[in-house]
Amino acid sequence: MGRVPVGHASARLDHVVASITDLEDIDLVTVRRTPPRAGVSGEWPAWIDARVRQCFATIGVDRPYAHQQRGLDALHAGRDLVLATATASGKSLCYQAPVLQAALADPAARALFLFPTKALARDQVEAFRKLVGPNTPLQGCVGAGTYDGDTPPDQRRAARARAHVIATNPDMLHRAVLPHHDRWSAFLSGLRYVVIDELHTYRGVFGSHVANVLRRLWRVCAFHGSRPQLITCSATIANPRELAASLCAREDFEVIDQSSAPVGPRTFVVVNPAVVDPLTGVRRDYLKCTRAVLGRLRAADLTTLAFCRTRKAVELLTRYLREDECGVHERDRSPMQPTNGVNQQPLGPGGFRPQGKTAIGPWARLQNQPASQFRRPPEHAGPVDPGAVARARRTIRGYRGGYLPEHRREIEAALREGEAKVVTSTNALELGMDIGGLDAVVLAGYPGTRAATWQRSGRAGRRQDPSLTIMVLSSRPLDQFVCAAPEFLFGEPPEHARLDALNPEILVPHLRCAAYELPFGFQAPGSVSEVEQPWWSSWGGLTTEELAGALDYLGERGALLREQEADGGLRFYAIGSAFPADAVDLRGSLEENFTVVEDVPGRAEHGRILAEVDFEDGPLYLHPGAIYPLEGKTYEVRRLDWDERKAYVHEAAVTYYTEAVCNLRVRMLEGDRSDEGSGASQGDPRRVPSGTGYAHVVRAVPGFKKLRFRTHENVGFGPVKLPDLELHTIAAYWGFPDQLLAWLGDPHRRSNAALAAAHAIRHVAAMVLMCEVQDLCHAVTSGLPGPDGVTAWAPVGFGRPPAEASMLASGRPTIYLYDDLPGGAGLSTQAHALGRPFFERVLAAVRGCGCANGCPTCIGTEVALDAGGSFGPTPTEAERVNLEHPEAVARRHARADLIATIEAMIDGL
Ligand SMILES: [Zn+2]
Repeated sequence: MGRVPVGHASARLDHVVASITDLEDIDLVTVRRTPPRAGVSGEWPAWIDARVRQCFATIGVDRPYAHQQRGLDALHAGRDLVLATATASGKSLCYQAPVLQAALADPAARALFLFPTKALARDQVEAFRKLVGPNTPLQGCVGAGTYDGDTPPDQRRAARARAHVIATNPDMLHRAVLPHHDRWSAFLSGLRYVVIDELHTYRGVFGSHVANVLRRLWRVCAFHGSRPQLITCSATIANPRELAASLCAREDFEVIDQSSAPVGPRTFVVVNPAVVDPLTGVRRDYLKCTRAVLGRLRAADLTTLAFCRTRKAVELLTRYLREDECGVHERDRSPMQPTNGVNQQPLGPGGFRPQGKTAIGPWARLQNQPASQFRRPPEHAGPVDPGAVARARRTIRGYRGGYLPEHRREIEAALREGEAKVVTSTNALELGMDIGGLDAVVLAGYPGTRAATWQRSGRAGRRQDPSLTIMVLSSRPLDQFVCAAPEFLFGEPPEHARLDALNPEILVPHLRCAAYELPFGFQAPGSVSEVEQPWWSSWGGLTTEELAGALDYLGERGALLREQEADGGLRFYAIGSAFPADAVDLRGSLEENFTVVEDVPGRAEHGRILAEVDFEDGPLYLHPGAIYPLEGKTYEVRRLDWDERKAYVHEAAVTYYTEAVCNLRVRMLEGDRSDEGSGASQGDPRRVPSGTGYAHVVRAVPGFKKLRFRTHENVGFGPVKLPDLELHTIAAYWGFPDQLLAWLGDPHRRSNAALAAAHAIRHVAAMVLMCEVQDLCHAVTSGLPGPDGVTAWAPVGFGRPPAEASMLASGRPTIYLYDDLPGGAGLSTQAHALGRPFFERVLAAVRGCGCANGCPTCIGTEVALDAGGSFGPTPTEAERVNLEHPEAVARRHARADLIATIEAMIDGL
């Protein structure tokens, strides 16, 4: 095969690991090595035809591994299958082989492949076509096609009529297949297998929707006379059987969670950015560390995939790496060398930079900066070789949601073919896209869950070659928790994935969709006149009585037509002219995305579509004046046509990027259940007023900041005038108890304590509930929710004027935690229900922070640290005598107040 011998490649990786641990400002946390494991081969079962085996031989598979054989045996025995083995363990064979076999045995047999994204569906159809391509015994016998929003109508018809395999996504199934199942009768009546890949992505709210779509599919299949077998594939999670059962409403799953495929030796390195400013506890920026790590991997010519947590991080890292690749240096200074001088001091989150004793805070800094400072691009110190720039654009690529499909296909191909050497990506590349093997994976920040960590890390490694994963931690609380206790990562099983298919907010709209597809019906008690139809009166997870109750409720509210038959039976029909599936979006938003259009009149590119942006992100990234980064290039938004959902941009070589400033208003709606579980009684000064309920969140974007690349210095502001966005969700709140108010008399300290506590509560909640930090949001208001609700705001990002902060805390600071999903997923209410033990976890996390004075990990980045100014805490006598830095004093006070706040919460809950 012409591979480098393992020993040689191992030595090369060891060398790279050593070179990374040598980097300045990076602390090594741990290195874990997993030895290689030999594979265990199995045999093709006798029921798999020789021609099918030959098809696999053409792609280099002579026989299945033992675990694949076990899967095939289970299917032959009529059972449903869950494959929950590591990345690249050959899960696709376990569905490709039986589907081919079925098509061979019965030309009318059909299979439905369900993938969470269009891109994956296309990828897998291509892989399937390769199996039955030219020079294979099944050439021309088995057809496969995709069915998604981009499929032209004539191809859709052809796929429906002739394809043995149709690959689609849950959204298409929900909107285009099920409501028109009459047109699909040939396909549905022949349906032998339903393949559900990337099972673990169907969790939370999206998973709960898909679970209901599948229940609708089973009804429609039963109507057309089929009961397909299920083959589901998942990344490693703790509960694959439970997830498959609750998603699919089926019980008899064979679970295969041990792979017998061979794996090469794996090395996993965790590094932590060093504290570069002992005064503030600020660590070296993790993206800068990631950039330095990637530099070493690039020098060793390792093909690397770098996972970032945000789209912005992808764009910044791509830009910086390209500059490094073509030799552009920031004033000839290596990014990892310690710096001197005011402008090159280390920067913390949001661009915080400690300065002299007079000017502190972003607003003050801004006033002190001469405008001439950012006129000339500082990074272009000398002429840059255009050939090197072009080369850098080919070898360093960005990849994220929002790129157009053809753009993404091109990057995937460049990675597969070896032209792209470093690809920075969001989780868009986490799923099983065919990008070939990689030498190394870099995780810029802890991905949030162990399951996602292993899934992403599994992208490294070609066959049995050694592979390397490097995780660069950030200063976020969960990251620093991993640093303090790496066994959290290496010693614990992956997380559970959960969904709640019977959540009424989700179930009810799907019952309406289902009634449109096929009416529900119930026989009168004791009646035996009709043959029982499984689709007629059943719904996975509900008893007949529960289903009847739910439908009755809809009937009473006029959402369904309820008819009493002469024999006493009941029927429920859909009513109205609207198409119910159109009003239900599986992924949370019904609003159309924005498109980014190039606006250069008179040039060939005029009108070209560059990218897509989710509706919710439009006001943040596409307001007039915004800089929209796209794979290393920068475009300025000229105008935003809100109604047409189009942003007109032109390429602009600028030295800054933009960040929208957000104001949030949170209001609790009816359904508020106040004070559940509060231990202290009414009138007790320790009592924590708290509750949960439905919340109405309004997000306004009043303006934006201009931040310089590399240094994140704030170099300007601009106003934004766009409609506000609304979110109806579920929230929990906790108000400060009276005893805490009495103790924290100063409004500035109240405000900081509330902001720091909200930060800690949100991050610990994500840890405890095993969700992503971005699934939850926090806000702080100056009073409890009243009968008319409360208007409140919460800062997002940095740059908040201190006057607002003190206004905010004039009353009783109240912390809100809400689910950042329309309708909510019950996360914030779960955190609330945990009560005192939850706050004990928060306290342990804050106390466990290793900093001396309060750092971004424990107190967050929103506290106002304008110490010594009119809003700062009064320094103690000792602090005055010691002439301590006012910033350090402010941080220490904030940390002490944070601990006192959480202790007061524990005391009063
Ligand atoms: Zn800290």
